[in-house]
Amino acid sequence: MKINIQNVSHTYDVEVLENVNIALDQYTAIGIIGVSGSGKSTLIRMMAGLEEPTSGNIEIDGIDVRDPEYRKHVGFVFQNHNLFPHLTLKRNITLILEKTRNMSPEEASEAADKYLDILHLHDQKEKKPAKVSGGQAQRASIARALSINPEIIFLDEPTSSLDPILTDEVLNAVEELRELGKQFVFVTHVMSFVKDFADYVIFMDKGKIIEHGKPSILDNPQTNELESFMSKVR
Ligand code: ADP
Ligand code: MG
Repeated sequence: MKINIQNVSHTYDVEVLENVNIALDQYTAIGIIGVSGSGKSTLIRMMAGLEEPTSGNIEIDGIDVRDPEYRKHVGFVFQNHNLFPHLTLKRNITLILEKTRNMSPEEASEAADKYLDILHLHDQKEKKPAKVSGGQAQRASIARALSINPEIIFLDEPTSSLDPILTDEVLNAVEELRELGKQFVFVTHVMSFVKDFADYVIFMDKGKIIEHGKPSILDNPQTNELESFMSKVR
């Protein structure tokens, strides 16, 4: 994908992104890392068009993320699965497809089955979120994000509420999605996943991009900030 972030700043009550600039081309899995509060979620939400920067511009694959059409083609997976609790895993997906994509119930059912199968949930479809594990619920929310057939999937710490075993289960499922030809932008604290899966890494601290490059930058930090971060996560 092609990413062009120009002079992006964002202020809530304080400045949380400070003049972020980066232009990337041809990477397919971009990992964003950094300590809590460094602005990762703010940046990924803006890249997905979920929130507008106070100033600056973001283009993804040549399209301004403010374009209402852009948002329709974006899949987003949140920290917590965000599924409707009163609906089955499958209905969580078919409802969105029927309401926002104008699919017939039959088409929606077929699409939901397809993506739930890909995420290894064929035997869990008719359960409600509270009746499955956190990892299964998070995989269902990944299936839901995929079901609209987005080119890019954004994931913001998809495993932060999971134990190590469920974390592996979800991250392995994400790795398998590469075969679908999807592109990824993700935030995670799991450095082994960044090293295995990302082809580019952005390290943020205090609202700025401090270092970026191939995942090998993690083994050879050039700044005190990245060095200190890596010594804490290892
Ligand atoms: P990260 O994802 O790296 O933890 P965030 O982008 O969530 O960082 O947050 C960056 C800073 O912005 C933090 O100091 C956070 O408290 C603040 N912040 C995030 N969202 C909001 C909001 N909706 N309103 C006010 N402050 C916010
Ligand atoms: Mg965050």
